[in-house]
Amino acid sequence: MRRYGRHWQQRPGDAFTEAYALSVSHRAPLLYLVVIFNTLLVAGCFLGTAPLALVALAPVMSIVAAQRAFHWMPDKVALRPVEQLRTDLMGMQRLGGWAALVFVSWSLGLYPYGDSGQRELLHFVIAVTMFSAILGMANSPQTALRFGVAFTLPWSLFLLATGHPDARAIAAAQVFITVILLAMTQIQHRDFVRLELSRQLLVRRERQTAELASAHYRQATVDHLTGGRNRRAILACLEDYLAAPAQAVRPWLALFDLDGFKHVNDTYGHAAGDHVLSVVNQRIGASEEVTAHGRLGGDEFAILFDGAFNADEVMVAAKVLSQAIREPIPFNGATLRLFGSIGLFRAEGSTASTCLERADAALYKAKELGDGAIVAFGPDDEVALQRRIAVMRQFNDCALEDRLRLLYQPIFDCRDGRVVGMEALARWSPDGIEWQAPGEFLAIADATGRTGELTRLVLARTLAECRPWETGLEVSINLAARDVVREGLAETIAAIVADAGASPSSVMLEVTERALQIDPKRAAAQLIALREKGFRIALDDFGAGWSSLSQLRDLPLDRIKLDRQLVGALSSDPGARAVTGMIVALAWQLGIGCSIEGVESEAQANAARALGIHLMQGYHFGRPEPAAEALRVYAGLSLLSAVSIG
Ligand code: C2E
Ligand code: CA
Ligand code: CA
Repeated sequence: MRRYGRHWQQRPGDAFTEAYALSVSHRAPLLYLVVIFNTLLVAGCFLGTAPLALVALAPVMSIVAAQRAFHWMPDKVALRPVEQLRTDLMGMQRLGGWAALVFVSWSLGLYPYGDSGQRELLHFVIAVTMFSAILGMANSPQTALRFGVAFTLPWSLFLLATGHPDARAIAAAQVFITVILLAMTQIQHRDFVRLELSRQLLVRRERQTAELASAHYRQATVDHLTGGRNRRAILACLEDYLAAPAQAVRPWLALFDLDGFKHVNDTYGHAAGDHVLSVVNQRIGASEEVTAHGRLGGDEFAILFDGAFNADEVMVAAKVLSQAIREPIPFNGATLRLFGSIGLFRAEGSTASTCLERADAALYKAKELGDGAIVAFGPDDEVALQRRIAVMRQFNDCALEDRLRLLYQPIFDCRDGRVVGMEALARWSPDGIEWQAPGEFLAIADATGRTGELTRLVLARTLAECRPWETGLEVSINLAARDVVREGLAETIAAIVADAGASPSSVMLEVTERALQIDPKRAAAQLIALREKGFRIALDDFGAGWSSLSQLRDLPLDRIKLDRQLVGALSSDPGARAVTGMIVALAWQLGIGCSIEGVESEAQANAARALGIHLMQGYHFGRPEPAAEALRVYAGLSLLSAVSIG
């Protein structure tokens, strides 16, 4: 504080000048009032004794003083620009001394015309006016000093010159008190400066804190990509609605998920993906029916529709929005076309997460339907959801070891009717009584993050139950999509195989095309690593969906497993026969084996055989059975030491 000095002029910045002027304005008008009162008092007293011209100066001085008092009224000062204030303050400093001199000179001019009583009054008035002036200007020591000098000096000299009996004493007292008062003004001014500076510091700090808080708030609630609400903000918005009184109308929560967004990212780059998300965010925001929206993450948005809509109306609103998002999105000369699926739920849950869960279940259904479907969550869905939640809990809490069972389905070589391998198919039981097929629990394993554990367990148990090193059978196990991209997969499962004392070459790992599509590059690298460890790899469900023949050439495969959808068509559809024949021929050329699964009849088996497929799997040859049965019935290996676990 000291380095700024102690006077207002030395203060940089406008805030200080303003504060200073305001403080002056609280005193100056009162001071002028004292001056006016005293002037008129003296004039009244000398009226009739002093020359009229001299007395008449009083109203003139009073008018000037009144005008100055008016000029310094606090509400006027508060409105004045700082430049003007600075001029005013400098003017006050400069003119204050002269004004005092005029007052003193006028009083001295009257002195000779007064009797002793009038003269006493003059002494008194001048002293009072001076002290008032100095005290009134206590915040402005420069002005006070000028007042002090302008009053004390001429008055004391005059007094001494009049030969007044107490002149010396009075003059000395006056000088002494003036000096003391001036010292006090210095102290007061210094205190004022300090106080004002710390006040300003406080204000600055407060502003900085507020700015920081608002920056933090922005950072925490704004989606950096779209500039709209982020997950936290839109969920907070939903929570606010849920916290409203029970009778308030609840909004509709819609979850919107883009289809084919990954494709945009992969084909046009991430800048295109980001652009798409921004545009989608804008289009959602532009819909009049939408009360709030935000990006939950990835390509998923949460949207709140007006709660006044009934179920049909909100469907229409969602359709209109979905249509708007379908409009082509131009990007760098390209035209991007996307659409999304919507899951709707009347946000009646107790928390945002229960609402999200239901909207998400509806979205899941919509995705299954495809083509940008819109599905509202209904009462049946609630039942299914409750069941799913219960199962999820059971799955989460169970020791997989105790609740998992493996069935084995034989793989036949039709040329000699021998079983060459067994595919392990998992069953899970929530209670040890009812056993569920993978279709029911695999998604839950995925959601609870236990797929890796499941795969390891299935592999270890398959090896223990089928003992390929003794039976000479090849064992097949299925890898989940998550497995395929999991770091260190090859090392982990190689260790399990080594622990069991088996050879990786007796293990066939089945991966689906869908699993490979999630991250094709990474998946290919993983397959190569697995191959290097000695594992064999089969492409499962080939022909079930979108199949690319080029991956047969690009991926390190030992076998393709033609999906059972093809089997059904083989015996009846010449087109399917032609396509399958082509695939088999291509695989043969590439040195990849071929098998077919889901064979349910002799006719199907014959049709497959006619195309040169020898390895077959299906109910016609054998249903999935527990290890002991499968080995005994299918492979005639009951005498071997294969033991069944679990
Ligand atoms: P998948 O690998 O294609 O397995 C063949 C599925 O078809 C099995 O169903 C099997 O019971 C069934 N199947 C076999 N022959 C026939 C037939 O002639 N006709 C008909 N209609 N169906 C037949 P499941 O056991 O329900 O398994 C379904 C899928 O779950 C499997 O398909 C596989 O992708 C997956 N899966 C099974 N076990 C595991 C596992 O341990 N781990 C992982 N990640 N996935 C598994
Ligand atoms: Ca399989
Ligand atoms: Ca399959």
